[in-house]
Amino acid sequence: MNNIWKKVSSQEKEQIYNFAEEYKRFLNLCKTEREVVNYITSVALENGYKDGFSNKSEKLIFSDKERIVALYKKGVRSQKGGFNIIVSHIDSPRIDLKPRPIYEDSELVLLDTQYYGGIKKYQWFSIPLAIHGVILNKYGRKQYIVIGEDNDDPVFTIADLLPHLSRKVQGNKPIDEALPGEKLDVLFGSVPMDGEKEEEIKKYALHILKEKYEIEEEDLVSADIEIVPAFKARDVGIDKSLIGGYGQDDRICVFCSLKALMDIKENIHPILLLFVDREEIGSFGNTSAKSKFLEIVVKKILEMEEDIKPYDVEISLYNSRAISADVTSAVNPNFKEVDDLKNSAKLGHGVAIVKYTGSGGKYYASEASAEYTSYIRNLFNKNGVIWQTGILGKVDEGGGGTVAMFLAEYGMDIIDVGPPILNMHSPFEISSKADLFMTYKAYKVFLESE
Ligand SMILES: [Zn+2]
Repeated sequence: MNNIWKKVSSQEKEQIYNFAEEYKRFLNLCKTEREVVNYITSVALENGYKDGFSNKSEKLIFSDKERIVALYKKGVRSQKGGFNIIVSHIDSPRIDLKPRPIYEDSELVLLDTQYYGGIKKYQWFSIPLAIHGVILNKYGRKQYIVIGEDNDDPVFTIADLLPHLSRKVQGNKPIDEALPGEKLDVLFGSVPMDGEKEEEIKKYALHILKEKYEIEEEDLVSADIEIVPAFKARDVGIDKSLIGGYGQDDRICVFCSLKALMDIKENIHPILLLFVDREEIGSFGNTSAKSKFLEIVVKKILEMEEDIKPYDVEISLYNSRAISADVTSAVNPNFKEVDDLKNSAKLGHGVAIVKYTGSGGKYYASEASAEYTSYIRNLFNKNGVIWQTGILGKVDEGGGGTVAMFLAEYGMDIIDVGPPILNMHSPFEISSKADLFMTYKAYKVFLESE
């Protein structure tokens, strides 16, 4: 049995528990992509990194639209020999507002929504929710709002049907039909505005938005507003060995790779950490792994030091080695039937090396070569990183992909390496503190590797 808790010293156990404390604080601060970008930027700035679009330095931050960011650290070797790259994604499944969300029904005011990413809709009913977002008013003034995180804040919720009356409407229907996406509307208020005859409850909600937040109804048309779970990350289990919290896919990898980079003293190869958005919807859009951002960043870095020739960007990307840092599914004792227990990852058994993803006959899979997988395995073995294999369930059970395939297009070696997560894509995902620590260790030895 490859259980980390059985293999580590009591000193390392303490390290594992301590490491998790900062991670929980990070999860509480970072529930949207923009919040993650701002966190990464502030940590990098504190550690001497400078804005890469306006400076020349050995440590640079490249950030765009508050939704995609790259960190660069110079190495001993030249950039053309390739970077050690770790890519992770900063977006998580959630519920977004529609452009005209506020409406009144049955003397309540509600927010109309559209979900983002692969959620199981029923998990979002009947839980406390918070509103996070960025709103620009008609003069272009930008405002960040967070409602529902402070103890004094109100929270929001999506009301489900009581069991007494759900027999026909929900009853024996498949879950998706019983709880369709159009019913994910958020309860927003119930008090009518004095002196109004029509839509007085909506008007009162708008009045509060105006008074308290200087928000007008039309401002919401252009806003990025996300509905996320309002609860904080918590220890799970009587031994406090697990962490429950929202957005661990994939912010656990964001945190571990950022922490690893900041803790590295010397690196032989130049390092690039890339944090991308839009992975949960297939990596479409100008801040996704499919955008040209990585090429622009590499070009900027090469221009700083070298007389850049045609194809230099492509050559340095081709010569790079990468980890696609994303989570994998953990064996769930309640539903073991979907897993191949010899190959699936287990909580507390280490960071998972996932040679290939995809579904069915490896469709849409990025698969790492035998040579590269063996290189990663040996690197971990040499450096005391406890690892396991991971796959996404039994053959033909389902499946999924990561951003690995988009970076693989440059010809670089890339492999998925990340911790297993239970309750993945739910509002309360579960990770193991031991796997969290091993993931950090794995990323650090990779970034330092020759
Ligand atoms: Zn993910």
